[in-house]
Amino acid sequence: MIEVRDLTKRYGDKLAVDGLSFQVRPGRITGFLGPNGAGKSTTMRLILGLDAPTGGQASVNGRPYRLLAAPLREAGSLLEARAVHGGRTAYHHLLYLAQSNGIDRRRIAEVLDLVGLAAVAGRRAKGFSLGMSQRLGIAAALLGDPGVLILDEPVNGLDTDGIRWIRGLLKSLAAQGRTVFLSSHLMSEMELTADHLIVIGQGRLIADIGMRQFIERNSYPFTLVRSPQPDRLTAVLQESGAQVRLDPDGALRISGIDTAMIGDIANAHHVPLHELTARLDSLEDVYTRMTGVSVEYRGGTGITSAGLPAPGNQE
Ligand code: ADP
Repeated sequence: MIEVRDLTKRYGDKLAVDGLSFQVRPGRITGFLGPNGAGKSTTMRLILGLDAPTGGQASVNGRPYRLLAAPLREAGSLLEARAVHGGRTAYHHLLYLAQSNGIDRRRIAEVLDLVGLAAVAGRRAKGFSLGMSQRLGIAAALLGDPGVLILDEPVNGLDTDGIRWIRGLLKSLAAQGRTVFLSSHLMSEMELTADHLIVIGQGRLIADIGMRQFIERNSYPFTLVRSPQPDRLTAVLQESGAQVRLDPDGALRISGIDTAMIGDIANAHHVPLHELTARLDSLEDVYTRMTGVSVEYRGGTGITSAGLPAPGNQE
């Protein structure tokens, strides 16, 4: 488990991380979200002991990272895929990490195989594409078979197959009971991958909440309807107080009345329906609204770690 308590980091007069407290629990994937400059990378660096906090503390499995005897066996990380000695082969990069952490060298072939780099194990890292470098970084993170994984933008540079592969890999690692903490600016990917979210803005905690709950609590629900008689349907629904918006593809987005009521009204007026689907906003829709708040966040705006501002109450 990762624990961050009252963590603060100041660079000159810039407060990059401002009294942050949260836990990242095992057995699920926790996504770390926040706009650029929110303090995500700084927080990850502080957890990994790569920077000293101005105040508060961060621990991995109950201890500060720098006090772990064989850190790669407890926490694997990928912060910067290109931070590899370019003159080393993939194999030698992993060999040096294994030897410095007392890891059996037989594990190197296993992780190279796992990330799909076995065929290029003897090639120097400087010739690797960004996607290959990401895979090597993931191999390094998994080398010590750690219970905790901390990954900063791990899908950067991966193609669609690579993204699907890493999503499956992270889900299986979490299902094995490991702690998986990752940041990504790709909201659609995060929505498919993470079970839980930590959202920060300007170094402060905005939300620590389950993915489903985050979307449900902050969505403007609507119903998507298709009908061969959209004008007639719009008229009868508006008479019942619904708001109706026409999508460019001909579907109607209806809010203000619930999905069952829409079906009943259409039926009562003998209007055929070809689709009737209850919908929520996407993570991206919700996140964009939330981070719009955090950009303006100056404290005392009613946003707390315990609760999020309700939709329509964001100004
Ligand atoms: P994120 O990863 O969410 O984009 P960062 O953690 O990189 O955010 O940065 C948070 C803030 O701290 C930014 O304003 C950034 O400019 C500042 N910052 C980060 N690292 C340093 C540093 N080494 N020196 C000075 N300012 C820094």
